[in-house]
Amino acid sequence: MHPVPEPASPSIARLIEELNRLPGIGPKSASRLAYHLLRVPHEQARSLADAIVQVIDTVGHCTTCFNLAETDPCPICRGGRDATTICVVEEPLDVAAIERTGAYTGVYHVLHGTISPMDGIGPEDIRLRELIARCQDGIHEVILALDPNLEGDATTMYIVRLLGPSGIRLTRLARGLPTGGDLEYADETTLARALEGRREAG
Ligand code: ZN
Repeated sequence: MHPVPEPASPSIARLIEELNRLPGIGPKSASRLAYHLLRVPHEQARSLADAIVQVIDTVGHCTTCFNLAETDPCPICRGGRDATTICVVEEPLDVAAIERTGAYTGVYHVLHGTISPMDGIGPEDIRLRELIARCQDGIHEVILALDPNLEGDATTMYIVRLLGPSGIRLTRLARGLPTGGDLEYADETTLARALEGRREAG
């Protein structure tokens, strides 16, 4: 391991520290990115800073599906989709991944996490109550599209137990997604096939 050289100024040090907090960015990459931003034309670096400020100022949560959106309800909830089918996912990135397949015409529900006792995340810490509330009326099918790992499976089983008595059709994605992987990394064909081949959950 080569030590990362000390930055020349406190501002650079701060930028490196902030970049280092991003997922997948280690101290060396953070340092490389910071010095890169100092080399590019000022407008380009400023445009990146503006994009970050704009996104945090304009993007919020849809109060129906809890996906990220600039409007409430979001474009998917606003109409034109099959509102009797809800696809339950862990995070907004999963919605983006499923939308890219073009194979899904229903609506979504973003839990913003999974039940994970190891991390102290219980059912009340994710958007589960809101999902149950949505399922009180006129829902035909709930597709459980959580990541194929321990927490995803545990959350799926928990929802199946809660919604089992409701008579709503409960399905989960077909096997074939890389086990332990993230839904968002599955390619479109695999994801579309997993959705198409969904089976009864529980
Ligand atoms: Zn929505």
